[in-house]
Amino acid sequence: MQIISSAEEMENFGGRLARACNSGCIFYLNGDLGVGKTTLTRGFLRALGYTGKVKSPTYTLVEDYSVAERMIYHFDLYRLGDPEELEYIGIRDYLDEEAICLIEWSEKGKPFIPKADVEVQISYDGEARLLELRACSEIGEKIL
Ligand code: ADP
Ligand code: MG
Repeated sequence: MQIISSAEEMENFGGRLARACNSGCIFYLNGDLGVGKTTLTRGFLRALGYTGKVKSPTYTLVEDYSVAERMIYHFDLYRLGDPEELEYIGIRDYLDEEAICLIEWSEKGKPFIPKADVEVQISYDGEARLLELRACSEIGEKIL
């Protein structure tokens, strides 16, 4: 359990995850609206050298980034009506072994999304946030 007391710290934490991640990996980012899932993702991308805007993919479902010779897919499934839509957007094509996926609202995509390597659960604690991390695979254990 980690306490994150500002948005900046959340970005820094995302950066630490990014630097620990040297293979393809699936992250689930769970927690209520506004809790900091996209903020963590922004820090993750920045740490890899991405300098552009990190937009929330709330309406597009996914934004893709090509950074440091890797592909990073940021999903936000909050508005996903039917998980089968993921088949139509061709989710399988995104998921080669080298890709990194950060998936907000992963539960809405089941069973069409891949299993997580790392689950990040974020909750509110006043102005601060509590972060719980769980490794779900060998890749995940290495990262944590
Ligand atoms: P989500 O993607 O979970 O809906 P966002 O990352 O888009 O959430 O928004 C989180 C908002 O909360 C941002 O405006 C951010 O600046 C603010 N914030 C305030 N304190 C924190 C904190 N401790 N950790 C993360 N974000 C924080
Ligand atoms: Mg978000």
